[in-house]
Amino acid sequence: MERPPIDLRSDTVTLPSPAMRKAMYEAELGDDGYGEDKTVARLQEMVAERVGKDAAILTPSGCMANLIALLTLCERGCEVLLGRDTDMYLWEAGAMSAVGGIYPNPLPNEPDGTISLELLKANIRQPDVHFPRTRAICLENTNNLSGGLPLTPTYMASVHATASSRGVALYLDGARLFNAAVGLKVDVREITTHVDALMFCFSKGLSCPVGSIVCGSQAFIDEALRQRKMLGGQMRQAGIIAAAAIVAMQEMIDRLEEDHENARLLAEGLRDLPGIELKHTSPSTNIVFFRARAKDVNETSRELEAAGVRTLPMGEWLRAVTHYGIDSREIVRAVKIFRSVWSVP
Ligand SMILES: *Cc1c(COP(=O)(O)O)cnc(C)c1O
Repeated sequence: MERPPIDLRSDTVTLPSPAMRKAMYEAELGDDGYGEDKTVARLQEMVAERVGKDAAILTPSGCMANLIALLTLCERGCEVLLGRDTDMYLWEAGAMSAVGGIYPNPLPNEPDGTISLELLKANIRQPDVHFPRTRAICLENTNNLSGGLPLTPTYMASVHATASSRGVALYLDGARLFNAAVGLKVDVREITTHVDALMFCFSKGLSCPVGSIVCGSQAFIDEALRQRKMLGGQMRQAGIIAAAAIVAMQEMIDRLEEDHENARLLAEGLRDLPGIELKHTSPSTNIVFFRARAKDVNETSRELEAAGVRTLPMGEWLRAVTHYGIDSREIVRAVKIFRSVWSVP
């Protein structure tokens, strides 16, 4: 029998664990439009406490979570500073402009995913009728395109100090926030304490079928609820989603270390292959970027897929993401497939 391909395109391909399916089946439900879904309430309290914020609200997607947060922080015609190599700038269909009338000022990301503090300082506008008002700085942690590198608490603290001193909010797109915390071996609060508001996704490495969550101060969340309603993101018996997310909070965070070890294992296997270039010889979290020199990435991706490994072309690189459902034996098998594609015995 032919084996299914090893799917390393993204950690979004993860399927819910048996414990999640059971929790979803048994979840106590109510109408969350009336604030009556006890499972949603339990999740939101659990998450707010875990990240050290007053409150949290469940959203259908990470993209909507980011949009809810920005609509809460910024009025029309305001400006946000963000990295040009980030999801919010590249892959959210221009939502902040299209829906919110918010003006993005994309700044270059350094190879480690940071934006230089000098550049941020220089781009926060002075009050002047000619200028849009700078309302927020957005960071992405881990930063996908830099190769899943986590931004350190020290860096986050320095951006926060700069932002606060100029009356600008710091918002974190933490789609893979727990990969950052586990990768840095710090409590997640060492990261989240340095932002005014944040979101993270349950539907990536945490393996839930659906869902993200926005967290912040009580005043921020009170307004975010209105924005979520306006965008159509208020759900009814959403406890069915929240139940899986509760299991994720309890059981799927510490195991991210396994994904990070598997990413390192994969990188080690790729490192010695002739003609293969890695963005980072030892990845910090669950993302590996690589490419075959002198070969088009789309062509390489097709060859790998035909041989049984799925990867995702992203610009000049191929991305492989390790995740729940892919164990070290499959990584070893993937490396064998890579070797055969590059004719290395
Ligand atoms: C996946 C992702 C999002 C968007 O999440 P969706 O649930 O796919 O809408 C936002 N930011 C980053 C960094 C992501 O990786």
